[in-house]
Amino acid sequence: SKQSYKWRRVLLKVSGEALAGDQAQNIDPKVITMSIAREVASVTRLGVEVAIVVGGGNIFRGASWAGCSGLDRSSADYIGMLATVMNAIFLQATMESIGIPTRVQTAFRMSEVAEPYIRRRAVRHLEKGRVVIFAAGTGNPFFTTDTAAALRCAEINAEVVLKATNVDGVFDDDPKRNPNACLLDTLNYSDVTSRDLSVMDMTAITLCQENNIPVVVFNLNKPGNISKAIKGERVGTLIGG
Ligand code: UDP
Repeated sequence: SKQSYKWRRVLLKVSGEALAGDQAQNIDPKVITMSIAREVASVTRLGVEVAIVVGGGNIFRGASWAGCSGLDRSSADYIGMLATVMNAIFLQATMESIGIPTRVQTAFRMSEVAEPYIRRRAVRHLEKGRVVIFAAGTGNPFFTTDTAAALRCAEINAEVVLKATNVDGVFDDDPKRNPNACLLDTLNYSDVTSRDLSVMDMTAITLCQENNIPVVVFNLNKPGNISKAIKGERVGTLIGG
């Protein structure tokens, strides 16, 4: 039943890179996107409410393009936000193909494509068992989808940000360079900010800290991890108080 799980409502952050997997194309339709959809499906059927913030880094990252051919940072970031909309529509179609009712809400209006972001409406969708995918980040340049995840989490009263990544969690050193790097089970917000552990950007982690929103960083490539994280089972690194 619903009561047996740790979280009632969660905010799952899926980065663009996660959707790409190791494919040369921008999106790995079969392995990654379908497995995300299946795992989310399994937990929504158990009654946990799931909202998703999707990134766009697999298609376009504003900061890396700013300056090219006169492209200013704001314009580059709007292109980046549009990239997240593409991912959101892809993910929505995948989820609906396996029977999960889904709504996409965009941070700026694209009414022919998706609903505009309306907080109370998003909450209503969740209460009805629909998965809500938040696209276009915060709607503002100079922010990231991690910050959008923290922001939407606070707004809809979700209990946790589940950050799905390509690594097992937060390590005390870079595991690619240092084979002795240790995976950390738990961390304080202040550890993240003071030790400059690259978990999420400062704006995002600070917003979580100010609102007492725990963050779980975990590897989405391991089968079962997404549903474990959503059900509140131990996985990855838990950042909190
Ligand atoms: N972006 C933005 N404002 C936001 C969220 C995203 O301007 O609130 C832009 C920014 O250019 C960013 C791109 O959208 O590089 C893709 O988002 P992000 O890099 O956060 O995606 P991820 O790393 O999760 O794939």
